[in-house]
Amino acid sequence: MPFLPVRIGQNFLVSQTAHRERKHLALHLYSMGLKELLKIPLSIRPLSRAKNNYIVTYHDISPPGDPSYSKFYSTSPERFQTQVNFFSKYFELVSLGEIVGEKASRRPRLAISFDDGFISVKKTAWPILKAAGAPFTVFVNRVAIETGSLDYGIGYSQLKVAPGVSSPYMSLTDIREMLNAGVDFGSHGASHCILSECTEVELLSEIKGNADFLRANLKVEIPFLAFPFGKKKHYSQQVVASALAAGHKFLFSSNPSHFVTSNDVVKPRISLLEEDERQLSFLFNRTLFKDIDL
Ligand SMILES: [Zn+2]
Repeated sequence: MPFLPVRIGQNFLVSQTAHRERKHLALHLYSMGLKELLKIPLSIRPLSRAKNNYIVTYHDISPPGDPSYSKFYSTSPERFQTQVNFFSKYFELVSLGEIVGEKASRRPRLAISFDDGFISVKKTAWPILKAAGAPFTVFVNRVAIETGSLDYGIGYSQLKVAPGVSSPYMSLTDIREMLNAGVDFGSHGASHCILSECTEVELLSEIKGNADFLRANLKVEIPFLAFPFGKKKHYSQQVVASALAAGHKFLFSSNPSHFVTSNDVVKPRISLLEEDERQLSFLFNRTLFKDIDL
């Protein structure tokens, strides 16, 4: 394919609306590959269309140097604030319930979620999101709530907590307080094991067991389940069937893509860590040019 003299920069991205030019840019970016694309000083403006929906997911929000900070699952509060500002600027921030609904929007929509129920979400992320007027959902595990620990399996280091902190996870009291203030909660399985590797009996306890635990203790519906780990290999048709049988209406993966209104019950989510605005823009724009199915 001949090289296209693509002008990548603020003016080009702001002024270009022609479909043909957009298509050229798409083809060019696609042909360059991800590694090369990362080096481009792309405008930080996402190119998304109004019908596109994005869900982002986080784990822990704590500063580097904090005992609980990990480069594998933490986002610093400062960077989290920058990311929330970015979302507010370019997206309509909606709840998970809204984003899976049918309602049309004039802007691309984005919903924020957190997995595992880290206490830092309550202490650090919540005030930032409250100030931004951003709704969010937290996916929690019975075992983390009851025992203060989760076994993430081989290849995942043990979580560390600050001295004097009994659990890196929220308690039922924390969850009830947030629930009463309008925060949404969903299921993340009972023990955070890989659901596709569970027997039928284990699946029942992991999926229905966790949903029933949350329903009984929180007195709310639990229509949403986020698969632990969340890649395609971590769930199966049997897992999806078990989740629907347990009363869940929508299921969330970690496939870093966007979605438009559809009947698909499994919705993709983009996992975020310490991405700056340019990297965020890349992650959002990439979903428009390349089918990602992880
Ligand atoms: Zn998780």
